[in-house]
Amino acid sequence: MTGRLQGRVALVTGASRGIGYFLAKALAAEGAHIIAVARTVGGLEELDDEIQSAGGSATLVPLDLMDMPGIDRLGGAIHERWGKLDVLVLNAGALGVLAPLGHIEAKTFDKTMRINVDATWRLIRTTDPLLRASDAGRAIYLSSGAAHSTKAYWGLYAATKAAGEAMIKSWANETRNLALRVNSVNPGATRTAMRALAMPGENPDTLPRPADVAAKILPLAFPDLTETGRLFDVRQDRFLTYHMPD
Ligand code: NDP
Repeated sequence: MTGRLQGRVALVTGASRGIGYFLAKALAAEGAHIIAVARTVGGLEELDDEIQSAGGSATLVPLDLMDMPGIDRLGGAIHERWGKLDVLVLNAGALGVLAPLGHIEAKTFDKTMRINVDATWRLIRTTDPLLRASDAGRAIYLSSGAAHSTKAYWGLYAATKAAGEAMIKSWANETRNLALRVNSVNPGATRTAMRALAMPGENPDTLPRPADVAAKILPLAFPDLTETGRLFDVRQDRFLTYHMPD
């Protein structure tokens, strides 16, 4: 297999379904070895079958991202086996609940923060030295338009995505002079389980398929990418301009 990611190693969280599943497949089709993380073993195995039958390879990591020491151990295992990481896709996420902020249960708030924010930071912390060890480290964070639109009842999810984008921008500024490139993505409404949970009355057939969305995100993993600290909008198929005060 030859491709733009031949010989590279890519870690994808939330690879058992939805956008992460198809992004993992697309990265593998470009030659990357995939480290596929999620809780649902069936989804990971299905991904592995598809990747293998297309001539690629994957390592399956059944892991609950609520398990912070587990994330640390994953970083250690990647260090021992490969000594570097070329692509990190921070895709796993939880919607939490759509509700007025004053009505959200503390348990739901804490769990959503833990998966979307704590785990994102923990993954950044454990992979930062590994990505720096690559000659073309790429990190891609799946954000959401919700981080900016901050609509009524979306406050919890919006806050987690805004926190994620803030970490990504800071990380990009810390690594601007290195080979590492770090960007956020707004995939836009996509035909997945999370979207169906958020908008149960919507006809999914009206939404873009996750495979098509993943194809638009894929180039952010390529070694020739120059942008860093930016937000890529899938629907517009371009990077947006952040206001970056000094
Ligand atoms: P899905 O709900 O279809 O998939 C979410 C993925 O995250 C699954 O693979 C799931 O795996 C994984 N995940 C969730 N919780 C955990 C956990 N505790 N530990 C490990 N893995 C976990 O979501 P989408 O594909 O729709 O979303 C992907 C990303 O894109 C998310 O970050 C989402 O916020 C963002 N996004 C999606 C939009 C959409 O319209 N779909 C719009 C804007 C942003 P498992 O359950 O097997 O653990």
